[in-house]
Amino acid sequence: MHELSIVAGLFETLLEQAATHGARKVTAVTLRMGKLSGVVPELLESAFDMYKKGTIAEEAKLWVVDVPVRIRCRACGKEAEIQSYVFLCDACASPDLEILQGTDMVLERIELETDDPAAG
Ligand SMILES: [Zn+2]
Repeated sequence: MHELSIVAGLFETLLEQAATHGARKVTAVTLRMGKLSGVVPELLESAFDMYKKGTIAEEAKLWVVDVPVRIRCRACGKEAEIQSYVFLCDACASPDLEILQGTDMVLERIELETDDPAAG
């Protein structure tokens, strides 16, 4: 399952960040997920829930933000969001599109809880 290896990589980053900041807990994680990232949000969430058990992210909430697919037409230069899986420029109908966003998954934000009340 694709999502398991994504979550494995995600947890490496989480634990590294938590250690860097001397955090006791990871409380929330926000991911920006492109519509074309090939990731199934439900599978990602269940992989996350499975993985977090016994780690400092055990109580962490996972927020997934959908990122629409944005394209730029190489023929006429128009930028637009793709609403369906029809990859044609809506201005000139050219299929020669450059995909600007929506194909990857990005770790946007990690919320940590530290022992030091001054840092909270
Ligand atoms: Zn066009």
